[in-house]
Amino acid sequence: MTDGWALRAPCRGLHGFTVRESDWKTGADLKRLCGPQLGTCGPCPFHAECIATVKPAQAFFDGIAGGRLWCNGVVIAALEDVRDEELAEPKLRASCGTEAGAKDHVRHGERPCLSCRQAVREMTARRKDAKAKEPEQLQLDFVTT
Ligand code: SF4
Ligand SMILES: [Zn+2]
Repeated sequence: MTDGWALRAPCRGLHGFTVRESDWKTGADLKRLCGPQLGTCGPCPFHAECIATVKPAQAFFDGIAGGRLWCNGVVIAALEDVRDEELAEPKLRASCGTEAGAKDHVRHGERPCLSCRQAVREMTARRKDAKAKEPEQLQLDFVTT
């Protein structure tokens, strides 16, 4: 995190707020490994900024962010005075190299990057192909008597 607020956060330079995938299996492991650092968030005035940056729910985050301990994007422990308003997460952007990524570029007023443009070209060609292979609509003649 290089935002100005992150440089002033109490956790700056500290470790143990996240764990390696190989070091834990259950929420209880996370509580044991990261739980002790939760108190660091207590005096931190940047809970909302932290959550908006990490986007723990959307990113299925494991570890500490915004005064909460998260497991797979769900809060499993929290400081007593955390507020729900801090939980707002801006929508994660779609990955580049996908049609959704191209749409996100446009939504943000950007020109889609090379790999997104390529993805759109490929999808358009694939759809055209699939359409060309569709069997012609059957003409059913009903005989009326
Ligand atoms: S809320 Fe906690 S993890 Fe987030 S910046 Fe503050 S001290 Fe660090
Ligand atoms: Zn892109």
